[in-house]
Amino acid sequence: MKLQIADLEFEPLIAPDAIQKRIVQVAQQINEDFKDQKPLFVGILNGSFMFIADLVKEIVVPCDITFTKLASYFGGVSSSRKIRDDFDLSVSIEGRDIILVEDIIDTGNTIKYLVEKLTVRNPASITICSLLLKPDSLEDSIEELRYVAFQIPNDFVVGYGLDYKELGRNLKGIYKKV
Ligand code: 5GP
Ligand code: MG
Ligand code: MG
Repeated sequence: MKLQIADLEFEPLIAPDAIQKRIVQVAQQINEDFKDQKPLFVGILNGSFMFIADLVKEIVVPCDITFTKLASYFGGVSSSRKIRDDFDLSVSIEGRDIILVEDIIDTGNTIKYLVEKLTVRNPASITICSLLLKPDSLEDSIEELRYVAFQIPNDFVVGYGLDYKELGRNLKGIYKKV
């Protein structure tokens, strides 16, 4: 079923139940890997709000959850390379095991910027968990990237937190531009 969002047409890429099933698997892996730690989940707004909400429901190790906000696409369908830092973390991360929760890694510029910014605050570790990864657009390997729910082709996608011109974030599934 095709979907019109603003001036573009989209078609289904990942169904809602496939997303939920995969999130359970990713969370189980995190539960195992962090069983002796108390990770701090950092959701990167806006795009990751749905993913982090569903992910942490499956987390059984003690954890806390906070947010930061970055923007980089600005209404287009390709990475602008300009990163706008909208709001910073409100908690100290010194000595903490951080899990950065991102909606999508495309070129990798945004997440690299954030990792560099947070590294100087001396966390014990930084690990990245991304719902989506576009391996063909990634410019550099990302050492901290440990969990990826889905690898997708180089298409522009919306839904499940991701927007086109601020629309479509509320969709339960993920759709790609036709
Ligand atoms: P990067 O810096 O890795 O190139 O891009 C990361 C950010 O760009 C993501 O956090 C996301 O906000 C946005 N982005 C990248 N690819 C897409 C896409 O296919 N759809 C949407 N809606 N946003 C994207
Ligand atoms: Mg994002
Ligand atoms: Mg956006």
